[in-house]
Amino acid sequence: MRKQWHYFIFFAIIIIQFLIELGFIFVNFNLLSAYNSIKKQYNITGAINPFALIYKNMLNAVSIGLFLDFILLLLTSSALILAIRFKENIISNNSNLENEAFTDSLTGLYNRRYFNTFYENIFAQSSRYGIPLSLIMCDIDHFKNINDTYGHDKGDIVLKEVSDVLKNNIRKSDIAVRFGGEEFIVCLPSTSITDAIDVARKIKQMISKIRTKDTKNLTISMGVASYKKEFGNESKDMLKHLDNLLYEAKNRGRNRIISGDHQGSIIEVEENPWADE
Ligand code: GH3
Ligand code: MG
Ligand code: MG
Repeated sequence: MRKQWHYFIFFAIIIIQFLIELGFIFVNFNLLSAYNSIKKQYNITGAINPFALIYKNMLNAVSIGLFLDFILLLLTSSALILAIRFKENIISNNSNLENEAFTDSLTGLYNRRYFNTFYENIFAQSSRYGIPLSLIMCDIDHFKNINDTYGHDKGDIVLKEVSDVLKNNIRKSDIAVRFGGEEFIVCLPSTSITDAIDVARKIKQMISKIRTKDTKNLTISMGVASYKKEFGNESKDMLKHLDNLLYEAKNRGRNRIISGDHQGSIIEVEENPWADE
């Protein structure tokens, strides 16, 4: 906003300068025609008065000067416009490069590289200050069949739709990540296991509603884990635990959410076991 005011003031100055120059050209033109009509009226053929001659030459010189100045003004304005466009291009190219470095080009979700930095940072806060942290790991069931039956392009469409569900069902402070081919992680900082399970159930339900032409119902398997003291400051342990939960979901027949209870036993989430807490 501040930058726009900057440009606005600059253009206002150029327009005012432009109007002043037009005014000068107009006045100068009037003086010249007044000079010529006086000469004509009194039938003066030569320049009898040296002052009149000087005056006439001066008016001509000023006219040429103003004309050149006017062209210079146009050139300056064009150069300024080009410079602004050039700067805006550089800024947008830079932010595109930044986006490309952190996001997955197919789905627009964050990539694994971004997740690693984000997760290490948020995990450190949990282990140091005991701030809750939850992770959801999901993997599309039998995704290979979708590719094999309907083609890779259809597979890509399904990946995008699943990603949209993830993006649209999390808070601004959460991030959705494409962790691998058809595997995703949702990172929920400051979120308890209770709330994370609610998010997982909602996502699972929304994904079951995805209907792309031809394909059958889509299902997804999920693991949900929260930070526990036992992880200490080993961020890898929490990821390993999460991966085990997802593996268990696949192992038990897919299309389900697996989490852990307070005693640390692995449980299957039909209804949210912590819903009343
Ligand atoms: P499971 O239920 O055990 O997870 O089975 P699955 O078929 O989903 O898992 P599997 O690991 O056997 O196959 C994953 C497939 O995902 C294989 C790979 O070709 C496909 N895939 C990975 N990345 C992409 C992608 O960007 N686009 C498409 N269309 N397919 C992808
Ligand atoms: Mg899969
Ligand atoms: Mg997989």
